[in-house]
Amino acid sequence: MNKQNLKYGKSPSKIRALFEYGKKRKQEVGDDNVYDFSIGNPSVPTPEIVNNTLISLLSSDDVNKTHSYTSSWGDLKAREAIAVYLSKTYSAKVSKDHIYITCGAAAGLTISLNALLEEGEEVILFAPYFPEYKVFIEHAKGKTIEVKPNPKTFEIDFNDFENKVNGKTKVVIINSPCNPTGVVYKEETIIKLSEILSKKEKEYGHPIYIISDEPYRELIYDDIKYPFITNYYKHSIVCYSFSKSLSLPGERIGYIALNEENEEANDLFYAICGAGRSLGFICAPSLFQNLIPHIMGVTSDISVYKKNRDLLYNGLKNIGYDAVYPDGAFYLFVKALEEDDERFSEVAKEYNLLLVPSKSFGYPGYVRVSYCVEEKVIKNSMKAFKELFERYQ
Ligand code: PLP
Repeated sequence: MNKQNLKYGKSPSKIRALFEYGKKRKQEVGDDNVYDFSIGNPSVPTPEIVNNTLISLLSSDDVNKTHSYTSSWGDLKAREAIAVYLSKTYSAKVSKDHIYITCGAAAGLTISLNALLEEGEEVILFAPYFPEYKVFIEHAKGKTIEVKPNPKTFEIDFNDFENKVNGKTKVVIINSPCNPTGVVYKEETIIKLSEILSKKEKEYGHPIYIISDEPYRELIYDDIKYPFITNYYKHSIVCYSFSKSLSLPGERIGYIALNEENEEANDLFYAICGAGRSLGFICAPSLFQNLIPHIMGVTSDISVYKKNRDLLYNGLKNIGYDAVYPDGAFYLFVKALEEDDERFSEVAKEYNLLLVPSKSFGYPGYVRVSYCVEEKVIKNSMKAFKELFERYQ
């Protein structure tokens, strides 16, 4: 038996474990008495156009075609629609020939890492980060290197970053808006990151890739222009997902887009096709590929998350909690009231508050609170948050 996979299977992610606990606890004390802030399952309904288009695809005369295998890397019409949308919206230099449709961002990330990494090459993560990155990197035989954040803003600590890039660095993963902090990188951050990496590429004589993990790209609440990575850095790869923007996480659909200015885009795309093939991630669900040309640019009602953010952030601040103000995504990163975040999460469970400890995000001392929940969950949870706070005074 493969030891590494046995280890992953036996130790599920903290997020999933808490989510499963919440399901059991709800059976014991009732749905309304558990404040489940564990998982990032979108709470806003899927837009009507998505459901209507799916129904019409399923009612078409040629429904078999709707369910057929597509090209391994994805249906041409879907790839064309993505390329046109990205060029129009972000002036991105991308092409249908270098877009690979995936089963969500998770598959996009594993495919990209497996396409790029040779054994022992290093991947830089900016803490705090989505915990599954480490699993994906380890599986691709890479080595994770963590860069710490500025502890006040949770932006990149560029001094630490420059010190950690070396001859073995092959990939840097960015995630903006960020899970778990909600931080959104502004243009100046992306420019600085790109400048440092271009300098390091010259110094070490090989490309260093930025993989931009973008499942929350549209979930930005304040006035921030999204700096699209391919416009700033040649060796960049976008891993997108429709999971959050369209509230479709269980349908597993997303894409990888390469930068047309990358001189090795052709070979990289072959390596991506090869990684997709060897991992068995070919031909993403075709019903949802068929949906893509009809829904590019559509999102579910993001204003609901903004309202939730304000309610939760202001509510917790008023009680006395310290939290990172999130510009995007649907997570609040809250300072734990004791050093040990895992123990704090356990204590919170006594109040039926399900908060994810931050250690597995590579930055201990905090908890992640997912606010993609019904508004009433946030409102009703305030009493429990207050009691939890008072316990520590
Ligand atoms: N990346 C980040 C930062 C996420 O938060 C998630 C899911 O929560 C994923 C990737 C995986 O997304 P998908 O459902 O598209 O596989």
